[in-house]
Amino acid sequence: MTVNRRDFVVAASAAGVGLLANRAVAEVGGTSADSHAGKKAFDDRIAFGAWINDVRTEPLPFASWPPDVLDDVAEQSIVRTIDLQSQAGYNMFDMFGLFAAWGWPIDIVSAASDGRDARVRRIVKAAHDRGIKLVYGLGVYSWGFDKIIQHDARVKGPNPHAMCASKDESWEWQKKIIDFILQYDFDGYHLEASDLGRCTCETCMKRWPVQATYYNDVTARCADYIRQRAPDKYIAAITISWADWNGGFTEEDKSNLVELSKKVDSIFDQGHHGQYVKQPDRKAFIERLHCKFGTSAGFWVYPPFRCHRQRWFLPYTQRTGAHIKELYADGGRSTLFYQGPVTNPGAEVNIAFGGKIMSNVERDVNDVLSEVLDELYQPKNASAHKTLCDTFQLAEDAYFNNMNYDADGIHLKGLPDYPGPGELHIGFGIGLAGGTSAVPVYLLEPNLVDEGRRCYAKGLEVCLKNICDIENQVGAAERMQRLKSSIYCALDDVITIAYARETSPKS
Ligand SMILES: [Zn+2]
Repeated sequence: MTVNRRDFVVAASAAGVGLLANRAVAEVGGTSADSHAGKKAFDDRIAFGAWINDVRTEPLPFASWPPDVLDDVAEQSIVRTIDLQSQAGYNMFDMFGLFAAWGWPIDIVSAASDGRDARVRRIVKAAHDRGIKLVYGLGVYSWGFDKIIQHDARVKGPNPHAMCASKDESWEWQKKIIDFILQYDFDGYHLEASDLGRCTCETCMKRWPVQATYYNDVTARCADYIRQRAPDKYIAAITISWADWNGGFTEEDKSNLVELSKKVDSIFDQGHHGQYVKQPDRKAFIERLHCKFGTSAGFWVYPPFRCHRQRWFLPYTQRTGAHIKELYADGGRSTLFYQGPVTNPGAEVNIAFGGKIMSNVERDVNDVLSEVLDELYQPKNASAHKTLCDTFQLAEDAYFNNMNYDADGIHLKGLPDYPGPGELHIGFGIGLAGGTSAVPVYLLEPNLVDEGRRCYAKGLEVCLKNICDIENQVGAAERMQRLKSSIYCALDDVITIAYARETSPKS
């Protein structure tokens, strides 16, 4: 007889043997290689930063994006996140910005000065001690080259953020940076060529009239060099912005990716606005590849760095769980699962859920959520545990079921040119407050309109009532206060917007 996880937790809690239940959970959710034997697990269960301060447990109100500060709080936040990743079953952590964001210094080496070298080495060791491989997020001809482009006219094209791919000197700079990073004990490279665009000089346009071909070639160039210098490093090729979000990859793009797949370990079609490889074509495409294939789990929140960490409450375990199962069934074996501050209760649960579902895709998504909430909140009875599960599911439904989608279910009505998120931005700073805090754009059009905001507020009201009812029935008191605070903040924002819209003079 098979007892599923939820039945077991309820029975164990009812019998007052919470400790036993937690021990059983630790055995089920273990992170050793053996714990995945015989289970349908992703090979690359990658936590994706994306930037070093996206997991920061405190806000950075006066910084600009992406903040590259690596101080005590940043280091502690990263290690705390690695702890959670390790418990949840991830095996890699991929981050941008450990040494530079927009611009490496001209001498390269001073990127590691002022104690940064020691901090980076401590972070690498902390990851390895916890069974997590560390992957370095590397810009390919762009991201990190602004100062070099300003300094060396030979690599300059029309794009201030992208070196000219036709110039030998650009390649020399790229190699210098790879060589520098290779001195550290990173386990792999995330190669990203396209987020800031390409070089559009006459020579580059003539040589690579097709955008994806340009990105493919420069990525392959770096992959070959890393393979030659350090054959055991994991190499991931990221295809963000390689193609049109509606049209996706052409047959030519796909054939070129098959060639690239001979040089890298994984190719990622992350899906900021849905995937470039549409789902009906995905299985056949994956079968053509010589490497693994992955996405970013179908949906994620990109956390704002300026505002309060409990400002939003967006668990999305149902959506990502369903996507991850479909991806696995199509042959996908890699996922770049976005992280966030673990002091945000929705982000914390999403992170833990992601690691567990990637470790065994056959598990029921509700069962995994139930286990995560049991471990994190330590409910003292079955009723409180059920209320927690209901609250996280309700919060997800209350937001996502009320987004203003067109009848096709793919495009938001107010954003017909792009498939819907993908990547959801929570908030942006505005000049009114010197860029500090953030406007909660996720509650505004095109994501929610009046009716959606009304329904979301009603949903959050029920979530808040639930949490108040069981406040004293969980072991993790501090975490419970963060949860309450997070639901409160989201509700404050949505009713403020709704009231402002209702009372503003109509023209
Ligand atoms: Zn060029």
